[in-house]
Parts: sequence; C-alpha cells; structure tokens
Amino acid sequence: MFPEEEMLGIDLVIPDINYLLEKREKIRGIVITHGHEDHIGALPYLLPQLNVPIYSTKLTQGLISVKLKERKALSGAKLNVIPPGGEVTLGKFRIEFFPVCHSIPDSVGLIIYTPIGIIVHSGDFKLDYTPVDGKPTDLSRLAQLGAQGVLLLLSDSTYAELPGYTPSERVVGETLDHIMADAPGRVIITTFASLISRVQQVIDSAAKHQRRVFIIGRSMTDNVNMALRLGYLNAPDGVLARIDELKGMPRDKVVFVTTGSQGEPTSALVRIANRDHRWVHIVRGDTVVISATPIPGNEALINRTVDSLFKQGARVLYSKVAPVHVHGHGSQEELKLLLNLVKPKFFMPIHGEYRHLSLHAKLAQSVGIPKDNIFVLEDGDVIELTPEVAKVTGKVASGNVYVDGLSVGDIGSVVLRNRRMLSRDGMVVVIIAVNRQTGKLVGRPDIISRGFVDTREAKDMIEESRNLVARVLDHGGSRPADWGFINTKVRDTLNKFYYKQTRRRPMVLPFMVKV
Ligand SMILES: [Zn+2]
Ligand SMILES: [Zn+2]
Repeated sequence: MFPEEEMLGIDLVIPDINYLLEKREKIRGIVITHGHEDHIGALPYLLPQLNVPIYSTKLTQGLISVKLKERKALSGAKLNVIPPGGEVTLGKFRIEFFPVCHSIPDSVGLIIYTPIGIIVHSGDFKLDYTPVDGKPTDLSRLAQLGAQGVLLLLSDSTYAELPGYTPSERVVGETLDHIMADAPGRVIITTFASLISRVQQVIDSAAKHQRRVFIIGRSMTDNVNMALRLGYLNAPDGVLARIDELKGMPRDKVVFVTTGSQGEPTSALVRIANRDHRWVHIVRGDTVVISATPIPGNEALINRTVDSLFKQGARVLYSKVAPVHVHGHGSQEELKLLLNLVKPKFFMPIHGEYRHLSLHAKLAQSVGIPKDNIFVLEDGDVIELTPEVAKVTGKVASGNVYVDGLSVGDIGSVVLRNRRMLSRDGMVVVIIAVNRQTGKLVGRPDIISRGFVDTREAKDMIEESRNLVARVLDHGGSRPADWGFINTKVRDTLNKFYYKQTRRRPMVLPFMVKV
C-alpha cells in the first residue's frame, strides 16, 4: 500500500505476514499477477523472512528483479517464469495463468484448480478490445470455465464506482499524437515507472512526429532498459536518445519521459518543477503531460507541482483537462460481463477499499448471484469452502507494517501518534534544575517550545507557565525531587494550562538536569 496522508513520514505500508510465518512449511510459493508497485512492492521486505519460490510472467519477473536489486534482496530469490496460458502445480493446487488486459503488459488472472472445485482470481483487469500491447483479456477461456462450473470468483473492485466501460488505451495514444504534433516546444511526459505500455505509446507517437525520447530518472531508466531487453518495449532505431545528445537539439524535437506523477519529492518531475534538476529546466513553450491519476492522499503534492510548472511558463495537461490517462481497471459493465461469463457459485470482491467491495457485491447481486453467496471480507477473515457451502469461520492476525526509510516494522502506532501530535500542536520542553547534593529544585524551570506558539507574542503566557510549574513543584515542600512525580505533575499541569489558554495540546516533555 501507499501510505495515507496521516501516516507521517512513512514511505510504504506492507502486510504483516506473521500468520504466514507460522505456517511456513505449508507455503509452496507466491504467485504474482503483474508487475505494478502495489503487487510487487513488498517482496524485498518479505523474502528475507519467507524465502519461497515466486511465480510470474516474464515482464513481471523483470520488474521484480529490478525491485529486488534496488533493495539488495535479489540474491537467493527463486524467480520462476510462467507464460500467459501456462500453468504450475503447487501442492494440491494447479494454477493456470490466463491473459488479462491491464495497464501493463504480461498481466494475468489465475485459474486455480483445487480438489473441491475451480477458483478464478481476476488479477487487475479491464476489457480493452484495442489494448496497446495487443493482448485483450481472454474472455473465451473464461466462458469455457463458466460452462464447466466455477466454485468461487475473486474479482478486481478498484473501479466498481464507475458506470459504463473504461475507455481504451487508444484514447491516450490519440491525445499524445495531437500533443506531439502541436506542441511548440519540448514535451515532458510523466507517468509511473511501471506503466510500460504508456512508455510504448510515447515512443510510438514521438517516432511518428520525428521527436527523440530522453528517459529521465533512475527507476524509469532501469525499467525501460529491462523491458527493451525482454522485448516488451520496442523503439525504432534512433528514437531513444542519451542525455548528452540533448545539447543543440531543436526544442520541438524533444520528448522527456520521467517519474513524478504523484508529486514524489525525490522524483525527476518535482526536481524539474523546483528548478533543481541537473539536465532539465522548464522554459516557456514546454508542455508537461501528467499521464496518471493521483493516488488518493497525493493530490496536494501533485497540485503544488502543477502550480509551480505553470508559474515557470509550461503548459500542463493532466487528466482533469485532457484525456492523457485512462485507468487500468474495469468499470461496472466490464465487471458485470466477467461475472456473467464466469457464473461463479460464490463471489468475493477484492482489490479496493471497503466501499468498492460493497458496490461490487451489489453489482454481483444485480446479475443474479444470491446475496448469501457473496462475501465482502476484510484482511484476516477466513473463509472455508466445500463444493456446496462457503462460510466465514474465523479471523487470523493481520495488519500493516510501516516502512520508514531503511527500517521495517519498528514504527508502531505509538510513533505515528507522536508524529501526528507533533505535527498538529508542536512541543514544549520543560527543563527542571535539581541540586545534585540535596535533590531539591533550583530556581524556576526553563521552557522551550517549537511549533506551538510564537514565543515573542506568547511571552507572557510562557512566563506564566514557568511560574505555574515552579509553584506546583514547590508544593512538595523540602523533600527531594522524585522524578516520576515531577514528570506526571508537570505534564498534567501544563496540558491543562496550555489547553485553557490556546485550545492546543502540544507534546510536553519534562527534562531534569542536575546542577
Ligand atoms: Zn495493477
Ligand atoms: Zn493493483
């Protein structure tokens, strides 16, 4: 998962796999449907604990290798390639990969043959009949299965809110064509590093309009090189250019492809927007295309980047103002078609927030699946299946592990609560001097604050709080200072006092120095 806005300073959220670790000897492998970040991003953190074989298609394996290498977790990983249409047997399960269309090539869904029946897992999918990489979702295979009888369908719910059909990737190709033809200067296109088919569209369109393509940024470069090597990206000779060829090239012959569609602070686009990039600075006449939708929580960062690009004279196109992106997930009519083809006995919506799952469940009801045969589950819920019956029978431990920089899992909810508190109301440090010999208080305490109040304007209040602390602690009379008592007393007193004065709750940190 990408972190939510209130997860301050957290880079990534990965699943808690303790349940799996307890059952380690029963786990035959991890099957990955495609190479998007939300599907492979946790592997570098999981594999050191649970080193089981991984099964995926070729491009997905390529993306996994790039990711594992970045995190220095590649050695010892057991990566196996299964082609779309191929299968693998893991214990009692036989798993067939069937091609699905998504916003990345080599995506698959899974047909899982179990001793009690067939389970179909859609993976992330849509039903684009004119996809960029030429492979639509294999509907005939699914129709065959439907006739055979499917016990359970698990299906992508991400866009269950949207009526109708998701537009074809073709739409984006046409828009890019217009942009490349009409842009008076350079075109800077930003998207996810894993959106290989979008990069292909950019290359195709650039070639058509005699522009040369410069790939900017490490993760984008790594993924593009890997995809070229494996044959998932095709570039006519002379279209891709090295950055040292940029000098002297006419502006209307240049295209940059970068990351930064989510306003990530270290991405190339954000550096460009902040005039902090080594090679690329915005000049009047540049066109910037943000070919991605904001992941919820990133809107503010993206808007700031867009504003700054406009200020520097660029024209900026993003999905609200031009069809420069279509998403990779099926809308309501596509989800219904899948349900109708597969005709499962039981249905479980997956991949999405709870509201998406609920809406998907309603759609399933509308096409005739009985309400009692539909299961909207949360992480950790256990469903038990027999050929006749499905029921929820319990709950196992599950949850999130936060990744902050290099550390995994040592950031708990307490740390996050502290970060939220600090970000909201700041902090107050109270320095209390105690006589080393007698253990008695010396003078008035000092108070230092950060992010709480303007210390010049609130000088009187801070002074008053110093007096207050001094008075409260003196009540103890002449006995030596007990740290536990002082700590609690100071915090209680100041919490109350500051709240009354300011309606804020800064973090109060008493501190004792022996003098
Ligand atoms: Zn995906
Ligand atoms: Zn996904």
